[in-house]
Order: sequence, then structure tokens, then C-alpha cells
Amino acid sequence: MAETHAHGRGPQASPTLLRNYVGGRFIDGGRPFDIVDPATGRVHAIAHEADKAIVDAAVAAARAAVEGDWGSMTLAKRRALLVAVADRIEQRFDDFLEAEIADTGKPYELAHHLDIPRGAANFRVFADAIANLPTETFEMDTPDGGKALNYALRKPLGVVGVISPWNLPLLLMTWKVAPAMACGNAVIVKPSEETPSTTTLLGEVMSEVGMPDGAFNVINGFGPNSTGEMLTSHPGVRAITFTGETRTGAAIMRSAAPTVKALSFELGGKNPAIVFADADIEAAIGGLSRAVFLNTGQVCLAPERIYVERPVFDQFVAGIKAKAEALKPGLPHEEGVNFGPLISDEHRRKVLGYYQSALDEGATVVTGGGVPKLAGEAAGGFFVEPTIWTGLPHDAKVCREEIFGPCAAIIPFDTEEEAVRMANDTEYGLASSIWTTNLSRAHRVGKVMEVGISWVNCWFLRDLRTPFGGSKMSGVGREGGEHSINFYSEPTNICIKL
Ligand code: NAD
Repeated sequence: MAETHAHGRGPQASPTLLRNYVGGRFIDGGRPFDIVDPATGRVHAIAHEADKAIVDAAVAAARAAVEGDWGSMTLAKRRALLVAVADRIEQRFDDFLEAEIADTGKPYELAHHLDIPRGAANFRVFADAIANLPTETFEMDTPDGGKALNYALRKPLGVVGVISPWNLPLLLMTWKVAPAMACGNAVIVKPSEETPSTTTLLGEVMSEVGMPDGAFNVINGFGPNSTGEMLTSHPGVRAITFTGETRTGAAIMRSAAPTVKALSFELGGKNPAIVFADADIEAAIGGLSRAVFLNTGQVCLAPERIYVERPVFDQFVAGIKAKAEALKPGLPHEEGVNFGPLISDEHRRKVLGYYQSALDEGATVVTGGGVPKLAGEAAGGFFVEPTIWTGLPHDAKVCREEIFGPCAAIIPFDTEEEAVRMANDTEYGLASSIWTTNLSRAHRVGKVMEVGISWVNCWFLRDLRTPFGGSKMSGVGREGGEHSINFYSEPTNICIKL
């Protein structure tokens, strides 16, 4: 059994120690580094950067699990364990909630309704997905006039490295861990160096439900020249599944190339939304203000470019301005707070740099553009104002580069063709959100958007069985339902001469 950590929170609590979880236990070692609460700027935990010896130990433990108890387990037992993980996350809901809030500073309501429930749901969905996989069979004629029977068995890949980002830490990490484990792989997770707490808690949960040692491992640290790169270049790792920035994906591709690992990448975006004059404008204002500002804009699917048909432009801009100005920034547990900080001071500097760049390129700031004045502990947090620009050309820097902040440029258009052309004029291709009551237009525009997912009259409505991923530089491959199963397992064809 793992040693458990007390997740004592609050201003007086000393920082929580987060150790690496290898072979079913929390181990000492590794260089300590601070984990900062972005809502206050205070250090709330200390993690340990796994060195080469720890990474090697994790790979060896994972390999042993695949070759031992975990690999030989019946499907029924494996599924039962995954359901037990989901149950245990729900039983320890408040521990996960407080850990996620401390790492990200996100509002209590958001983590309560989105991050933690989805963390548990991911395990249930993939425990189900693995239950009814058909076996592919082909009977064939042989040259001697006889028959042969082919059948393909699905096998796990072996050891899978999971590298996750900080914006939805538990949700995005379990979205990869659950299907990888459902397929019988052993996983090694390298969570973001900003948000390792819920991944550490998942290690505790794995021990609590009796997961075989080594089936799930956590190694903390950074990317280049650190734990992340050691994992992505390790010869004992068969696949890397990654969510994060596009340029990080490119770096991982390079370090994984010499050992020809399977790769699944969910990368950055510069997502467009299109609002046609025939749309339900109030619904579009509600839906897209949520899309732009949810999680302080730190959602890969968030639109940062909104194209609005000219007759409804002013109405839309006024509506979204009012929504932005109604948001309440502050500490996660404060009554009525629905707008959190950015993840770090560094990220805030980056976002504020884009706020300046918009001004330099002649933007009209409809609302926001700066740092809110907050009192008390929140004064030390990494907050920015929700921000809307108009008056920018479609090729302005803030319309081309991913900002990952609570901001969007609103640009008018006159024809459907013009809107589609501007929306697709990007190297990214993750998601789009189209608002119209014209059914033919919805189908027509949905089909030509160069993205992995188009929402019509909605945004971020996710059925976990559907394909999810990015086109162009927003990703490689698709996950979700059977798409995940296809990535985390591989068929072996057996041909029997009858
Ligand atoms: P990031 O790329 O900076 O870091 C992600 C993870 O990669 C971290 O764990 C980091 O330590 C690790 N890493 C960094 N360099 C590495 C290297 N050379 N080798 C191995 N590991 C390395 O991303 P982030 O800032 O944590 O997250 C924000 C980004 O993630 C945004 O670009 C956003 O669009 C993207 N994102 C995409 C999706 C999606 O589904 N497409 C979802 C969420 C976030």
C-alpha cells in the first residue's frame, strides 16, 4: 500500500510533499521544486524532479507489471479495477477537488462540476469501451483449394508514457490513462510541473483499490533536459500520448523518433467561432462568452477569433461585453467567484504581452485589457481581466497565435464564403463553433471547417465515445471511444491453415 499524504490546505498549512510513485509505492529522491497556488502566489506543495534512476525504475516497474500480474489479469478483473478507481475518486472527491483548486486556482464550482467528475467518468467510459470489442476474422481461400482462417487479437502496446498539461490536469491526464490501462498497458505519467497534485492522489487511489504494482506510475519534473525528455526518449517506452503545446509536440516527436514510438498528440489551437445573422443571437452570446472565458480562457478548445455577420455585429459585441463585465474574479472558494487566475506569473506576462500587442496593432478594447485590482490574498494571484477586441485585421498577431488567455478578437464578415476562408486561414485545426438556425448552412459549413471537431449552436459538448483530436498543427491521431482503443492496443493477426 502507498503511504498517503495529508492534503492539508489553507494559509497556515505547510506545503504538501508530493513524491514520485513508482512500482506501487511513493519513493524518496529527486530534486525538490515548488508548486505555487496561482490564486495567491503562495507555495502550497513541493514535488520532486525524477532523475534518470527514478525514470529507469518506473520503466522497469511498468515493464514488470505488463509481464506479470497486470498483463495476465482477466478482462473482468481489469474492468472491475478501473471501475473501483472511478468509485474511489468519487469517494475522495473533496481531496481531489481541493488539490486541483490549490494547483490551478480555478473556481470551486468549475472544478466541482467539470474537472473531478470527468476524472472519474473517464475510467467508467473506458471500462465500458473495452468490454465489447469484436475480434476481426476473415476466412480465405488458399492456393491449394483449401481454406485458412485469420483472426486478429488486440494486445496492449506495453509501457505507455503520458505527458499532460496544467489547464485541466486530472481530466486530461485520466482521458489518456484510463484507455491505456483499459487496454492492459502499464502507464507512466509525467504531469505538468505546475499541477502534479491530483496525479499524485491518483497514485494513492491506485494503491487503495489494489492495482498491481507498476501498472500506474507517476514521475514529476520538467520537459526538456528533465524527466519529460527522459521518458519520451526511453527505449523501454512503446508509446507517448501527449497533450500540450504544438512546439512541445514537435520536440517530443524528435526525441521519440530514434526508438520509433507510437504517438498520439492533442496540441494547441487558434479556434474560430462564426456567428451568422440568422443565429439565435442571445444563445450565441451566452455560449461564446462561456467559451472564451471558461477556465480563464485556458481551454485548448476556446475560441480566440469570433467572426460575426455584420448586421448582428454591434448587438453581439455589446452582449459579450456585458457578460465579460459580469464575471467575478477572486479566490476559488469565495462566494460568487466564477473567474480564476492564469496558471503562473510567467503565463500572465505572456498573456499581457498579447494584450499590448493588440493595442500596438490598433485594437479597440471593448472591455478589459489589464490586471484587475483585487484585495487580500488574491492580490498575490496571477489574474488578468477578461478582454474583448474589435477593429483588428484578421491577420493581426493576436488573431494568429494561440494566447491561451481569457480574450478574443471579434471581426465582422459579409458572406459565408468570407467567414469560412478567414476561419480556416490558420496553421491550427482543433475546433470551431458555428452559430446558425439554417440547417443546410450548419451542415455545409461544418463539413468544410478544417478542424477535428465543429460544434453547431454549442461548444464543448463532449460525448466521450466520439473521435477527438486536431487537424493540421493541432494534433496527430484521434482519441475517444474505439479511437482510443485503436491507439492504445495493436492487433496481432493469426492465420491458421485449415
Ligand atoms: P506544454 O507543452 O508547455 O507542456 C505540456 C507537458 O509537456 C508538461 O507536462 C511539460 O512538462 C511537458 N514537456 C514540455 N517540454 C517537453 C519535452 N521537450 N519533452 C517532454 N515533455 C515536455 O503545454 P502546457 O503549457 O502545459 O499546456 C497548454 C497547451 O496545451 C496549449 O497549447 C493548449 O492548447 C494545449 N492543450 C491542448 C489540448 C488538446 O486537446 N488539443 C488540451 C489541453 C491543452
